[in-house]
Amino acid sequence: MQEITTNTQFFYFSKEGMRETARVQSGETVLIYTKDCYDNLLVNESLRHSDLKGREPVANPTSGPIFVEGAHPGDTLKVEILSIKLNDHATMRLTPGHGSLGKAVTEECVRIFPINENNTVDFNGMTLPLHPMIGVIGVAPKEGCIDTDTPGDHGGNMDDHDICAGTTIYFPVSVEGAMFGLGDVHALMGDGEVAICGLETEASVTVRLSVISGKQETLPVTEKDGRFAVVASAETLDAAAERARYEMLHFLKKRLPYSYNDLIMLLSLIGNLSVCQVVDPLQTVRFTLSEKIAFLQF
Ligand code: CA
Ligand code: CA
Repeated sequence: MQEITTNTQFFYFSKEGMRETARVQSGETVLIYTKDCYDNLLVNESLRHSDLKGREPVANPTSGPIFVEGAHPGDTLKVEILSIKLNDHATMRLTPGHGSLGKAVTEECVRIFPINENNTVDFNGMTLPLHPMIGVIGVAPKEGCIDTDTPGDHGGNMDDHDICAGTTIYFPVSVEGAMFGLGDVHALMGDGEVAICGLETEASVTVRLSVISGKQETLPVTEKDGRFAVVASAETLDAAAERARYEMLHFLKKRLPYSYNDLIMLLSLIGNLSVCQVVDPLQTVRFTLSEKIAFLQF
């Protein structure tokens, strides 16, 4: 199995100019090591911006990119997340004015939480069970250059906690090789990521990368326990939710022999709209089918 180290990191998903750090065949399994979103720089709780003196962490160093042989524009890259193994600690940071509760943050704060062997952290006397997930995961976009702080149709910083071990994600391929990468793993994060961080940690992630030739959707589609979801990002939650709804409607129309009216009723019954995050440059919503639909496949 090929291993991708943290020696090469990238900070932009770009239509042009991404240089691969590795090449894999379709169907190959890869082990990817990731840094935390603070570039592993927040090593103790007394650290402040002023201590970093120009070494302020760039957001979301991302491991890769990986060139997948046989992936061409118009195809889909299927990413199966086989496992997420966490480091022994996780970090959070608050900065006045940052995040969706930033008005209430009066002073900078860094906290480091040891990760217990039973997959929990202790938070001020509470025991919180962990749910490891991947914050940044994606491929080169259709147009332009998008930093790894920003989500989009290519994936990127979606901060969707359903992107966890056991989930499969389908990305639209826009360039030769797809140029896949991931980073920003969280040991735990709630819907919204309201503080603009989860339990940020280094990790090692095992994925299987496969090409589905000749078909794609516009947005990332996830599949968890046989239930599909569409992940949409836009400048507002309202706009992201509308994109997610229509994309799911079209996704189902292509695959099921139902009228639009029937599908709209079905989505009203088993479609769950929920927030991924409200703190990144675009906001992200997932629209999930709460039931498995027999024979529905990507
Ligand atoms: Ca993130
Ligand atoms: Ca993060």
